[in-house]
Amino acid sequence: MSSAASINTPSFDIEAIRKDFPILAETMPGGKKLTFLDSAASAQKPQAVIDAMANVYGHEYANIHRGVYYLSQIATDHFEAARRKVQGFLGAAHDREIIFTRNATEAINLVAASWGRANLKEGDQVILSEMEHHANIVPWQLLREQTGIELVVAPIDDDGALIWEEFENCFTDRTKLVAMTHVSNALGTVTPIADIIRTAHDHGTLVLVDGSQAVPHIDVDVVALDADFYVFTGHKLYGPSGIGVLYGKEALLEAMPPYQGGGEMIATVTFEKTTYAELPHKFEAGTPNIVGAIGLGAAIDYLATIDRAAADAHEQALLAYTNEQLAGLNSVRIYGTAPQKVGLVSFAIDGAHPHDVGTILDHEGIAVRAGHHCAQPVMDRFGVPATTRASFGLHSDYDDVDTLVSGIKLVQEIFG
Ligand SMILES: *Cc1c(COP(=O)(O)O)cnc(C)c1O
Repeated sequence: MSSAASINTPSFDIEAIRKDFPILAETMPGGKKLTFLDSAASAQKPQAVIDAMANVYGHEYANIHRGVYYLSQIATDHFEAARRKVQGFLGAAHDREIIFTRNATEAINLVAASWGRANLKEGDQVILSEMEHHANIVPWQLLREQTGIELVVAPIDDDGALIWEEFENCFTDRTKLVAMTHVSNALGTVTPIADIIRTAHDHGTLVLVDGSQAVPHIDVDVVALDADFYVFTGHKLYGPSGIGVLYGKEALLEAMPPYQGGGEMIATVTFEKTTYAELPHKFEAGTPNIVGAIGLGAAIDYLATIDRAAADAHEQALLAYTNEQLAGLNSVRIYGTAPQKVGLVSFAIDGAHPHDVGTILDHEGIAVRAGHHCAQPVMDRFGVPATTRASFGLHSDYDDVDTLVSGIKLVQEIFG
């Protein structure tokens, strides 16, 4: 293999990947090594993303789509190149089908407000699952208040998997949309999204997929899936916060009214009448997160250097190892045991509140999430107020899991 080829061949070397994340070298209070197990809340950033953003601010920054001068054109080129990187990443047919938003939350609100208000009326039904993030519940409740639509909730079983027959039974002749997560942030469950989309389409129903937790782990092809809308958030994909993505099929986006009004999204404005810009700008009112989009593009470039099949095999092995270790500890209960999962473990320790668990682990330099994970209906389903959640990123290794297990043993001693 020539050296040029090997540079371009994606690889997976966990030690090299760990060096790509400068924050992993930080020492936590008490001189503890950082054990970062909260990538599902927000991923840490590789140096390549930090450098790309610093480079724009230091050398190539200006507002975009407006200036005739050099810097503005360069910034515009890089912003639009980032859009094409997202297009390639999702396998979308056109870059005009990629709308930059603030985050996944805004992308879902955009669809609910624009598509929802234009297309749904009283009595129409939207199917959600019991394991949605609040970002894929509340926008539909707001729409329900405005239009009188009904929300139908597809239940999950004791493992945290969608109950397929119950999902199929949710469809009626009033069903207009399925809004469903691809991966649950609270349980790690991977939903059978291709089957969900096929079934919905058989019923003449559109599908919005919340891919926030999926894209960091799973290769997505929106055309192969035939997803109508697919959303994700940049900061969980190793990019910056404040940038998210709405993919929509061109014909749907074309027919939808604007979400917000202002600059960037117009063609002409008079006080009598305004005409709107073409896609994607129609949905990007105001100055966008220019550097955020470029940073997201850099994150996608970074991911392209990694052999994702090997990364996935590593993650699944790490997940199996974690389950095995936790199974050996009395009084630890795992929530979310679906057969298809990403590297994420929600658990509770008998007699210890998840917040206390989180605090004790923090003293060991371990960063985990404790709470309801913005998915209170999931907590209700399992009859717990909260869980502690450890979630893996590309850089997670066996040391991280061993440190976690030692931390849990410490919690057990304190509360035992
Ligand atoms: C994090 C998350 C969201 C919301 O992401 P924001 O960046 O807060 O908008 C939505 N859905 C799922 C499944 C998530 O994990």
